[in-house]
Amino acid sequence: MMTSCSPGWVNYMEKHFPTCIDHLSSAKSPMSMFGAIAKTYYAEKAGLTPQEIVTVSIMPCTAKKFEAARPEMGRDGYRDVDIVLTTRELIKLIKYVGLSIGKLPENDFDSPLGLSTGAGAIFGATGGVMEAALRTVYEKVTGKTLEKLEFMDVRGFDGIKEATVSLPGRDVHIAVAHTLKNARTIMEQVKKGISPYDFIEIMACPGGCIGGGGQPIGTTNAIRKKRMAALYEIDRNLPIRKSHENPDIQTLYHDFLGEPLGEKAHELLHTHYHKVDKPYTFN
Ligand code: SF4
Repeated sequence: MMTSCSPGWVNYMEKHFPTCIDHLSSAKSPMSMFGAIAKTYYAEKAGLTPQEIVTVSIMPCTAKKFEAARPEMGRDGYRDVDIVLTTRELIKLIKYVGLSIGKLPENDFDSPLGLSTGAGAIFGATGGVMEAALRTVYEKVTGKTLEKLEFMDVRGFDGIKEATVSLPGRDVHIAVAHTLKNARTIMEQVKKGISPYDFIEIMACPGGCIGGGGQPIGTTNAIRKKRMAALYEIDRNLPIRKSHENPDIQTLYHDFLGEPLGEKAHELLHTHYHKVDKPYTFN
């Protein structure tokens, strides 16, 4: 299985390795999952129709604009995510309206769905999605508490990182790659049927989203390293560091979605991908 939360990677995969599409995870990206939940679960709680809600995502990514406009990301005539602003655009907007961010009072995110975990924070760095998934997979499969949350083998800037995780009755071979050059190396193996991996994370941008195409121009490796260190520090300092322990997510499943992978979860949180041989038509 391969991760599918990076639209730069998904687009590349659909165009260049269409015969391998069945290996892509059907899970939508966090952005599109959040949009779908905002327009259903949150709409219900707030007494609004989906049409009365405009979802705006702030992203490090130009390809997220494309993802939000995909016809698969929405239902009943509305989109999961209406507007995507890159971080670069957000900075321009802040400067344009003359906001002094440093002078604004600290505030919590709105509830519900305002609570995030360390596992969510590290998604922004190459290896972070894999590490977040492993924290949950390990505990769900073994039924034991994971004592050491850091999977150091999947951290850092190496183009392709490999590791083996021992689960009961099975060693799981994993790989993490960033940039499309490294993705190609991994995909040539998958295409030939000689890949040794069970689970592969791929991010299109160098370093992952911390080096995304929507980030301020002039990002260097030194800046990427600082951003990566900042994400791991956020993770270390958060009280909840595993996705499945997020009480907002537990309530969401309990009150609205039902079982993970159940019918409603499948309809709202999952999607499909397909071969692309002609330009998309957007809604
Ligand atoms: S790695 Fe790049 S293309 Fe992929 S989601 Fe992050 S910023 Fe977007």
